[in-house]
Amino acid sequence: MNVQPKLDDVARLARSFDHPAGTAVAVAYGNGIGPEIMSASLTVLEAAGADLDIVPIEVGERIYRSGVTSGITSESWDRLRRCKVFYKAPISTPQGGGFKSLNVTIRKSLGLFANVRPCVSYAPFVETKHPKMDLVIIRENEEDLYAGIEHRQTDDVYQCLKLITRPGCERIVRYAFDYARAHDRHKVTCFTKDNIMKMTDGLFHKVFEEVAADYPEIWNEHHIIDIGAARLADRPEDFDVVVLPNLYGDVVSDIAAQISGSVGLAPSANVGEHGAMFEAIHGSAPDIAGKDLANPSGLLLAGAMMLDHMGQPDVARTVRNAWLKTIEDGIHTADIYNKETSRLALGTQDFAQAVIDRLGTEPVKLAPASSRVDAKPIRVVPPAKRPPAKKDLVGIDIFVHSRQTPDELAEALRAATQEPFSLTMITNRGVKVWPNGLPETFCTDHWRCRFLAKSSPAAGNDDVLTLLRYLTDANIDYIKTEHLFNFDGEPGYSLGQGQ
Ligand code: NAD
Repeated sequence: MNVQPKLDDVARLARSFDHPAGTAVAVAYGNGIGPEIMSASLTVLEAAGADLDIVPIEVGERIYRSGVTSGITSESWDRLRRCKVFYKAPISTPQGGGFKSLNVTIRKSLGLFANVRPCVSYAPFVETKHPKMDLVIIRENEEDLYAGIEHRQTDDVYQCLKLITRPGCERIVRYAFDYARAHDRHKVTCFTKDNIMKMTDGLFHKVFEEVAADYPEIWNEHHIIDIGAARLADRPEDFDVVVLPNLYGDVVSDIAAQISGSVGLAPSANVGEHGAMFEAIHGSAPDIAGKDLANPSGLLLAGAMMLDHMGQPDVARTVRNAWLKTIEDGIHTADIYNKETSRLALGTQDFAQAVIDRLGTEPVKLAPASSRVDAKPIRVVPPAKRPPAKKDLVGIDIFVHSRQTPDELAEALRAATQEPFSLTMITNRGVKVWPNGLPETFCTDHWRCRFLAKSSPAAGNDDVLTLLRYLTDANIDYIKTEHLFNFDGEPGYSLGQGQ
């Protein structure tokens, strides 16, 4: 079966939609199973009466291979930015260095900060251990370890920066509460790991509590991510809306989709102030590509979310109800086929035709699509501007590449430097090893050497430059520095473990 990107088909579909202005959608057929499931989904949307002005763009594998390491050409960027709505099949990121994830690039470049992933079970028609599951994951989409800022610093050590910002937290948490309000949901749960990452995850948790106070009618709760994820996997029916930083959201939403029945069922919307992208949560599934086996449901339901976003909720409801009736009739793709609950196993395109055959009908046993899923889109509120804090430089962490022992390194550093900074601590992988380290602590060649200023208010950048000059003269191999500030008198840096 030929499953190359069907731009001719897209153009045909585009012509066949009777589209007024303001209905433009950039469409990418993607890689792997992408062309099959996009073709199936667009056929259903078209048959349901969706008013879409399709602008085809090509992104992904072929573009990467042609030497464009971002996976998207500037012409496609222009089309995307003009359309503001993007319907995207999964794409493959080639393995190996040099290629950036296009998904991450698009989400971040277009400011699509909220990733909304409803995960619902369809028991008894789709096998699941969690028949009452109906939750929505709202994942922060731009920050955290996905800033993609990584460095090799020494022979032994590599670093990835985790960036969490106050405006980023405020936007996503407020979006989660506004989503709960608009969709008649009653609880918002936040997961972080702020017992360990007290500053970054601590900020996310703090902002969650601040914002929650503005929504007294919505319950709120916080769990540490490890026990929270375990509880969600065990009793997902206890959760309603869950808001998380980027990495945790990525992991937890795949788990939630899988335990609802199949990773192939879950749609997602990536929403920002200036546009939105709609896709399935799964990847390009190269293991089943070209075999007409893929479940198009995740992408089709993402298409329904897109229609809500574009102000076509009636068409979205028609699509959802026909899809629910198909599932309820036991007409399933291979990933959810089960002898007990399925009547017919169909391939991707025949499954789409079965949905089309049911357009205009509603499920009898499953709850029909309601205002709960086709609520009005949420207006994205830009975060409030805050006055800058009073910032005092009180010290500097200097990261040193060395094979010395902690005591040898401390002696060399103390001999090399003078006031106003003095060496107060050395850590290795965050654990204090000087003064009074433990001989059992395993050490690499990467040392954080903390210098604090003696006087307060302390120092300026001239003092930092002088300190670095001393270290340079003493042949100390420093590889990075980090200023230590107090913000309004509060330390803006963590202690060493064991300090
Ligand atoms: P995957 O989601 O593609 O596949 C995981 C498993 O789920 C496979 O066994 C696959 O057959 C199955 N599966 C996925 N979607 C299915 C569907 N619709 N119907 C039936 N079964 C389905 O994850 P992966 O194998 O880790 O990634 C493959 C490629 O996809 C990689 O190149 C990765 O970078 C890319 N990817 C893209 C996106 C995206 O475009 N948004 C997301 C995740 C991964």
